[in-house]
Order: sequence, then structure tokens, then C-alpha cells
Amino acid sequence: MGGPLRVRALVLRETPVGEADRILTLLAAEQGRFSASARGARRQNSRLVSATEILSLTDFSLFARGGRFVVDDAERVEAFAPVKADLVRLTCAAHAAELVLDCVREGDPAPEIYRLALRTLHALSRPDRDPKLTVRAFEMRLMGLIGFAPCLEACVVCGEPPPADAPVRFSYGRCGVVCPKDACRRVAGASEPLPAGVLAALRHVLSAPEESVFSFSVDEDVRRALARLSERYVQDRMEKEYGKLALIAAFEEPAAPAKGAPPQDASGPAPAADA
Ligand SMILES: [Zn+2]
Repeated sequence: MGGPLRVRALVLRETPVGEADRILTLLAAEQGRFSASARGARRQNSRLVSATEILSLTDFSLFARGGRFVVDDAERVEAFAPVKADLVRLTCAAHAAELVLDCVREGDPAPEIYRLALRTLHALSRPDRDPKLTVRAFEMRLMGLIGFAPCLEACVVCGEPPPADAPVRFSYGRCGVVCPKDACRRVAGASEPLPAGVLAALRHVLSAPEESVFSFSVDEDVRRALARLSERYVQDRMEKEYGKLALIAAFEEPAAPAKGAPPQDASGPAPAADA
């Protein structure tokens, strides 16, 4: 090949190797997921230190050598500093990075997932957005992108749209809503009530234009119910337990009846998620 490959990529994982090197796992729009080694990237005065730090958006200059990429040069474009300065935001971002890595195979182009990952980091950087809501919107949007969206518009048993204001249930086993008919509930087996606010939030997250996926707000009880649903749904679909989810859950304060919650971000095209 000729000159170096220039590519903008997100650093989703960095593994220390040897005395001062890093192996990077990167995500780029065209190239998808790939690895590159960054020689000397852990030396204090290396210009690669910050550019190859996890959760950085970086312009890389890469050489192919012996079947793998080697970082020739790198310049950080965005550091997402607010994410790294806050334990809750950082944990949510690290969980998102792990989930993305599980959903993208080496070498498969993943422009939509790349853009979602970037938008997630931007949303997690915003002080006016609750990271615990952002990470759930990310999770369910990602499930949609990889073909695991739950069925929300029609009952998973009879196939009919449930009446607009009827109380529906959610079946994890059948990946979608179950209408109130006794026969459907019987056939569906295990299911649980799906609050209308959670259903509206899920519809928004799965069908909104990508630039407004995170532009919504919900009541605190809806956010908690969405968190429970998303956590279980993602782990069921991915057939994996995500350790950072337990950490995120640990950041939840016990549900309190207090009404003094900080105001939610209501800017942007907020859907009637709590209607
Ligand atoms: Zn039905």
C-alpha cells in the first residue's frame, strides 16, 4: 500500500502492552471495529498519550504492518472531558463502549453505530442530561440498529395493535408488547405491566431521527421503569451479563416520594413520553 491510512476513530478500548505500548480497539464509520498498536503511547511525554486514551475521538494516521495497524501519528479531536470527570457519566460511557464492541464485528462497516456512539458521548457530556436516562436510550436504540428492536406497535401474540389507552404488558421472552386480551396474556406466558410512559419513551428512542434520540425527558418513575426494562432486555438479547450495569444501578438513590427533583431537560423536540 502507499501512504498511511488517515481515519477518524473512537477509542473504545486500550490495553497496556509491554512497558509503554497500547493496543487500541477503535471504531470508525467506514472501517467499523479494528485494532491498532500505539508504540510508546504510555510514555509521559508521548504525544500519543492523550490521543489514544479510552473514549477519545482521534484522527489517526496508520500504517499496515504484518497484518495489523500501527499508529504513526494521532491527534485528538474530542476528549469528552465532562464524561471522564464524573463517575456516573464515565461508567455509563464505559458500559456503552463495551456494548458497542459486542455488537460490531471486526471489519464490518458500522456507520450508524459509530454515529450513535458519538451522539451518546455528546449526550453524556451535557450537564443538563441525566446520564442514567441517556444510557438507556443508547441501549435500546442500539438494539434497534442490530435488529433486536422489541415489537411495540402490535401484540406479539395476536398481531393486532392494542387499543390506544389499553394497559399493555411486556414479554421479554417474546420481545414485545402483549395486548390486554386474556387469550394473549395466557399464550404469552410471563409478562409484566408496561407503563404508558415507558412505552412512549421506547417508541421515541426507537423511531426518532438520530439527531433527536436523546432529546426527551420523562418522570423519575418512568426513567426507573425504563432502566429496569432496558437492563433486562439488553442482557437477554445479548446473552451476557454486563458488570457495569450493576455499578450504574448502585448509583440509583432509593426511590423517594420527594418532589424536589431537579428539572429535566425539556429543550428540543420532547415527545409526550409521559402522556
Ligand atoms: Zn393480542
